[in-house]
Parts: sequence; structure tokens; C-alpha cells
Amino acid sequence: MIRDNLLKINERISLVCSKINRDPNEINIVAVTKNRTSGQIKEVIEAGIADIGENRVQEALLKYNTLSTIDYRLSTIKWHMVGHLQTNKAKEAVKIFDLIHSIDSLRLAVEIDKQAAKINKIQNILIEVKTSKEATKFGLEPNNTAEVIGEVSGLKNIKVDGLMTIAPLVDNPEKARPYFRMLRELKEKINELRLMSYELRVLSMGMTDDYQVAIEEGSTMIRLGRAIFEG
Ligand SMILES: *Cc1c(COP(=O)(O)O)cnc(C)c1O
Repeated sequence: MIRDNLLKINERISLVCSKINRDPNEINIVAVTKNRTSGQIKEVIEAGIADIGENRVQEALLKYNTLSTIDYRLSTIKWHMVGHLQTNKAKEAVKIFDLIHSIDSLRLAVEIDKQAAKINKIQNILIEVKTSKEATKFGLEPNNTAEVIGEVSGLKNIKVDGLMTIAPLVDNPEKARPYFRMLRELKEKINELRLMSYELRVLSMGMTDDYQVAIEEGSTMIRLGRAIFEG
């Protein structure tokens, strides 16, 4: 079933990309595996997925340890933290995550930087932006984002790859479009400010109900749970 679902998802991605002239290889699928078993994660990896997303550090640690003892090849996959991260979990988070999508305050970034320095790591992160008043509790206000990125870019053990947002729950995916567009425009605006020596590239946006619209608006990373595991 997971294999069939992924085939269907890839077909849809190709279709959307052909309509708007984007290269489907620009779109990264992160399989969000919260509440799924290590067995299901193994299955999704065997179907060709290389990026695994979790939303709780404790649950991710358990699965990470289980999977790397089952099969050493599984230790080559990339782990993504997509859920809200508490400052007191930063130490554990930097040990296992390749990309933390949910940095939503300067305070959290400073703590991540400190913990990453202790293990000699440059931690890749995304800045979570609260593009809507509704659904999402976490994330920076769009108006504060550039300023915070300016400060975070001074931290030596952090690299800001891009931005992430969660669109509100809507009955029609078209209604999510303005939030995705806002994130893309914010990325472009920040890149024009040249706060860093490099550009933000990643836009982590789009979930099961709205990923096609997110791709049309420039998403480079879609976070899929139900589309993969429930179909
Ligand atoms: C659960 C979750 C997803 C995946 O949601 P689906 O609607 O099942 O695709 C994506 N992003 C975050 C932050 C999540 O918590």
C-alpha cells in the first residue's frame, strides 16, 4: 500500500510540475511518521524515501535507535524535526536531526547553537513562520522574521536553510494558497536583504491535503503523513 501511495504521489507531483514548468526533482518528500511504527518507517524507506519527519524528540529517539540497530543502511537516512521543539529538548534534538524545521524564537536558536557547538556540529535549521492567525500556535510573525534571521545568522553552529509554515485547515486546498504564497514572498524578500553570505533555498510547506497547491507556490519540501500511510 505504501508503495502504491508513493507512486500516486509522485505522479501528482510530476503532473503539477509539468503544468508550471518545474523540475519534479526540486521537490523533496519528507515522510512524516509520528504515531507510525518503526516497521512502517522501514517499509517507507524500502519504497525509496530517504527523509523521515517526526514531531516529538522522545519518539524520534526511540525509532532512530531501533532502526539503526535493525540495519546499518537505515542510518543513512535523514531525520527531520517538524513539530514544536522545547528548549530543554535541544540537546537531544541536535544529536539526531539533520534538519530542524521548527525554530520559532531567537532563544531556541541560541540554545540549539550552544548544544550543536558541544558536539562539533553545524545544525541545519528552518525558521517556522506563522503565516495565519488560525490553525498554528507556533512560528514567528512574518514581520519579525527577517530581524530574527539576521541575528541567527551570526550563530556559528547553525545554518538557516530556509522557511517552514503550516497552513490552516481549510475545506478547499485553494484557500491555503495565500499562506504558501506569503512564505515564498517572504523568502524572496529576505534573500534581497542579503543578511547572509548565501541565499535561503528551502521552503517546507504542503501536507497531505494541500501539497499540490504548495508546489505551485514554490515548495521545495512537502511533509506527508496520511497520503503515504493511509492513501
Ligand atoms: C503530522 C504533520 C504533517 C503531516 O500531516 P498529513 O496531513 O498527515 O500529511 C506535516 N507537518 C507537520 C508539522 C505535522 O505535524
